[in-house]
Amino acid sequence: MATSLIDDRRLRRLNDHEPRDGDHVLYWMQAAARTRSNHALEYAVQRANDLDLPLLVVFGLWDDYPSATARSFTFLAEGLADVATNLARRDIGFAVRHGEPLEVALDAASAAASVVVDRGYLVEARRWRTRLGRHLDVEAVEVDTNLVVPVDVVTDKRQYAARTIRPRIHEHLDDFTVELLTTSVDHAWEGSTDTIDVGDPARVVADLDCDTDVGPVDRLHGGEEQAAAVLRRFVEERLDGYSDGRNQPADMQVSYLSPYLHFGHLSPLDAVLAARGADAPTADVDDFVEELVVRRELSHNYCWFTDDHDSFSALPDWARTTLAEHRDDDREVTYTRGELVDAATHDRAWNAAQVELRETGYMHNYMRMYWGKQILRWTNTPEYGFRVTREINDRFLLDGRDPNSAVGVAWCYGLHDRAWQERPVFGKVRTMTRSGLERKFDVDAYVALVEELSGVEIAGE
Ligand SMILES: Cc1cc2nc3c(=O)[nH]c(=O)nc-3n(C[C@H](O)[C@H](O)[C@H](O)COP(=O)(O)OP(=O)(O)OC[C@H]3O[C@@H](n4cnc5c(N)ncnc54)[C@H](O)[C@@H]3O)c2cc1C
Repeated sequence: MATSLIDDRRLRRLNDHEPRDGDHVLYWMQAAARTRSNHALEYAVQRANDLDLPLLVVFGLWDDYPSATARSFTFLAEGLADVATNLARRDIGFAVRHGEPLEVALDAASAAASVVVDRGYLVEARRWRTRLGRHLDVEAVEVDTNLVVPVDVVTDKRQYAARTIRPRIHEHLDDFTVELLTTSVDHAWEGSTDTIDVGDPARVVADLDCDTDVGPVDRLHGGEEQAAAVLRRFVEERLDGYSDGRNQPADMQVSYLSPYLHFGHLSPLDAVLAARGADAPTADVDDFVEELVVRRELSHNYCWFTDDHDSFSALPDWARTTLAEHRDDDREVTYTRGELVDAATHDRAWNAAQVELRETGYMHNYMRMYWGKQILRWTNTPEYGFRVTREINDRFLLDGRDPNSAVGVAWCYGLHDRAWQERPVFGKVRTMTRSGLERKFDVDAYVALVEELSGVEIAGE
């Protein structure tokens, strides 16, 4: 089934205003930097056609974005180049402007008859949208397009585990797994567009005042065209066998879609449709959908309903209590932040994971769990370990600064998990050990793979 209609349940009004006389409809593109399967874009086109106006899309490029580096800005800029090309083909105006995104949007809205924005789930993104609605005296509508089932349709509360959110998501999943068709504009954008030229992503990044110590990577490049190619390769070559393969870091039988999902270069809806349409065993498809929809949307649920989602203080009570009880336990070894970043620990498997993250901007899920758990083991206090893990995660990973970053790190400290047998340092929080890793997969093969990918020789035992 395919439709150009936008389900009302994806829409939320940000104020009670009506459209007014204006030159255009404005789509403030912030979380969904793509032109395919973008419900916010298609809704904005339809609104523009209803009002007999052209559509302008605006994107705010902000040097001060927390934890943003030349690495993440390069990926972002590669995506903007695709958006520019694809919107021009559809006669839609596109402006990329320097500045805090909300300021850029408010400025561009001054002559707009109606404003549309894609939904953001982190607290800062939510505050921007609330302020947008309050500041404008024209209608403003937010559209949920980066989740398969909109976060507020699934439930009106924070969920405590995958088992509680899973049935709620599945209740609506088929309803929302509908291919989105594009709508043509009735009025081409012919106005002048005050915009940065995004045709050369390297030039765009060179003009930003950002952290250049973490540079671009070759392993993955941004943009919706790349996203479509990475998805196609995954579905054709690696989806068959995903259930077992995804826990074997040396096999890399995973999708590598997380950076594309993070920047909104790919709609999760397209990934579900592609997987379901593939010639692959049902168990593999179901396990992929479990990760992509249930686990990912559980993270969005946590951030949507938790204002302090980045804080240690938001962890479940039982986890904070048990970690506090073991705060002063002797550590076998401790490392500084610098030693961790340098991958200079005694543990070769951990060092390989850190090199994978630092040099390639990606890390395998199984290794992320081990990596995060060992930082808890090797730092002086759980609060410090939590902070350092998050900081390294967000600075080096292409998919960092995501709801999945908040939840992945917090999971290492007990979120969405239960109490386990009590151990030193961890208390009742689940541990992971090197011997467990050895039992699960071929650690030497993983280290060799990371050495090959990074060109870095990995030390340790
Ligand atoms: C300590 C730690 C930190 C993490 N940091 C991040 C992060 O910064 N950004 C990020 O996107 N993910 C993070 N994750 C979750 C997960 O590891 C990644 O989403 C996954 O490894 C991305 O690789 P992939 O796209 O190849 O995964 P695939 O196995 O191909 O999965 C497909 C998609 O499903 C979703 N998914 C997979 N595993 C999980 C999971 N455990 N939880 C939620 N969603 C999942 C992702 O959107 C992923 O792209 C973290 C996990 C941990 C334990």
